[in-house]
Amino acid sequence: MTDPDIAAILDEIDSDQSANEDRGKVADYIPELATVNPAHFAMSVVLANGQQFSTGDASLPFSIQSVSKVFTLALALGRLGDRLWDRVGREPSGLAFNSILQLEHEQGIPRNPFVNAGAIVVTDAILAGHAPREMLGELLLFIRTAAGDDAIHINENVARSETETGHRNFALAHFMRAHGNLLNPPELTLGAYFHQCAVEMTTEQLALAGRFLMNAPDMPRLVSRERVRRINALMMTCGHYDGSGDFAFRVGLPGKSGVGGGILVIAPGRASIAVWSPGLNAQGNSKLGTEAVERLARRTGWSVFG
Ligand code: GLU
Repeated sequence: MTDPDIAAILDEIDSDQSANEDRGKVADYIPELATVNPAHFAMSVVLANGQQFSTGDASLPFSIQSVSKVFTLALALGRLGDRLWDRVGREPSGLAFNSILQLEHEQGIPRNPFVNAGAIVVTDAILAGHAPREMLGELLLFIRTAAGDDAIHINENVARSETETGHRNFALAHFMRAHGNLLNPPELTLGAYFHQCAVEMTTEQLALAGRFLMNAPDMPRLVSRERVRRINALMMTCGHYDGSGDFAFRVGLPGKSGVGGGILVIAPGRASIAVWSPGLNAQGNSKLGTEAVERLARRTGWSVFG
């Protein structure tokens, strides 16, 4: 296959998606996110040779929310190695991102590190007695190093807004604490978790930050090759909650979504892709974002399935 003309493909996707009126629904359970204009659309691609392409509102920061779980997982695996898997599973949940159902059956051990309960355990593991400020400093350092951009920051208004309304996450945390699977006080772990979710990035920055997951020779090597494979495997099987199977079927690449409407997608050895459109589908994943990466994958032929 000759090299695909990424710039032309992105332009085409942008003009179709900007005109698309069926944009999904912006998340409103975090009041600060409900203020975001659903008309935004952005997409950025970084290739294994370092070339960068962007379209739309690619320099406008958005709330990365659960995409942050990829970075905390990388940090936690670096810190604890395989001991992390004593506290969190590696199976898709087939349930909503904030479901409490399985936790009761499975004695407070979340299904995987990408559902909220699992991500809260991962944050708790990195926190391990440190002040949340220290842990968040380490996370920002990791993300800034991955992206090569020191301007990436946390939006305090978004963090505060979720702290005031995140009752389901408090329920999950207290439930896990009751089962002995949360080592820090729930308020402390959740304070850190809400702040990690409130990291803001542009699609340009997010695509750059995703380079360490490409396993390509000239890309930043922040975690080992084996670990990158495992993080990608979890993104593929669990990265879109109960929409993970559908995302694998339609896109064929590992990805992690967030309720801010962002998705980080990795074409191993080839590209790191970030897309943002705030309107969500029924599973809480960006509606136009999913359609856009589906189209990019089809046009480029990128797929982990051959
Ligand atoms: N901060 C959000 C929550 O815990 C993240 C969910 C998501 O992005 O899917 O509800």
